[in-house]
Amino acid sequence: MVGIGKIARDQHLPAIDQSQAFALVGVATRHGELAGVPTYGSLEALLDAEDGIEAVSLCTPPVGRHDIARLALERGRHVMLEKPPGATVAEVEHLAGLAADRGLTLFCTWHSREAAGVEPARAWLADRKIASVEVIWKEDVRRWHPGQDWIWQPGGLGVFDPGINALSILTHILPQPAILERSTLAFPVNRAAPIAAELAFRTLAGAPVSAVFDWRETGPQTWDISVETDAGTLVLQEGGSRLFIAGKAQPLADTGDGNGEYPGLYRRFANLIRTGASDVDLEPFRHVADAFMLGERRAVDAFDD
Ligand code: NAP
Repeated sequence: MVGIGKIARDQHLPAIDQSQAFALVGVATRHGELAGVPTYGSLEALLDAEDGIEAVSLCTPPVGRHDIARLALERGRHVMLEKPPGATVAEVEHLAGLAADRGLTLFCTWHSREAAGVEPARAWLADRKIASVEVIWKEDVRRWHPGQDWIWQPGGLGVFDPGINALSILTHILPQPAILERSTLAFPVNRAAPIAAELAFRTLAGAPVSAVFDWRETGPQTWDISVETDAGTLVLQEGGSRLFIAGKAQPLADTGDGNGEYPGLYRRFANLIRTGASDVDLEPFRHVADAFMLGERRAVDAFDD
């Protein structure tokens, strides 16, 4: 594993611990160490020193991932990438080509797609006519990303760091692609990444899709997607972990041990390796790139942690 920060410690290490398929051989991190696990200052040093490493999981911020993932693939290892898969679309496409050329697995993960309500939502929506979609993703950046400087740097994506989770669910559950038509990005005057964004898409069948991402929400935290259809409204709440159809809560698979988002990702990674496949779905990432490309930029109050 490379990069032992918040998500590695909170989710990846416990998921690997309970995985039947993976065991942690060593970690690469520039600062600190992981007690009881061989720790190296770089992936190169880790691969040089430890035998038997078949796969590498990257938990570093998106800028700088390409070099690390490229090294892993060039040295014949399967690679799993945290979301977002990189800093640019081109670099991830390059990695996909490299993996394909070498017969290795590249897995660009979207952890929110593993939330319990997402697959049932996708199945229910498959035959519906979509009338409109509303996404509201509002959270307090100070609570969820305290002191993380990289998210405010170019390539850190700002509010799209959580917003891309919404887009990963949306692109998975809608029966038709949506295309971005408008985007407004709010940049704090002292930051290089947006603190809020409003997006307007339209599906290929013409249904409007709106999304609001905001990192300034200090009240109730909201991660909801609501889809109006010809058979009633489907609502995914709490990042996809709760599902309501026509106002009725739907029973979902137990999300206890072994059923969480990250155990699901590691099971999927193992299956991809076993079957010699890759999973590189860049649709959510392309929407973010489009949002920056089309984005009307507004300057808002300075933000300090
Ligand atoms: P983090 O706490 O800042 O940890 C990132 C780790 O990567 C650091 O411990 C750092 O360790 C290493 N690193 C390597 N290059 C770095 C650089 N240029 N700047 C900063 N750190 C660098 O970040 P995180 O929250 O774990 O997020 C990592 C990735 O996981 C991101 O892509 C994020 O979107 C994704 N993610 C995060 C969450 C979450 O809730 N936090 C949830 C899902 C996904 P060394 O300095 O020791 O190398």
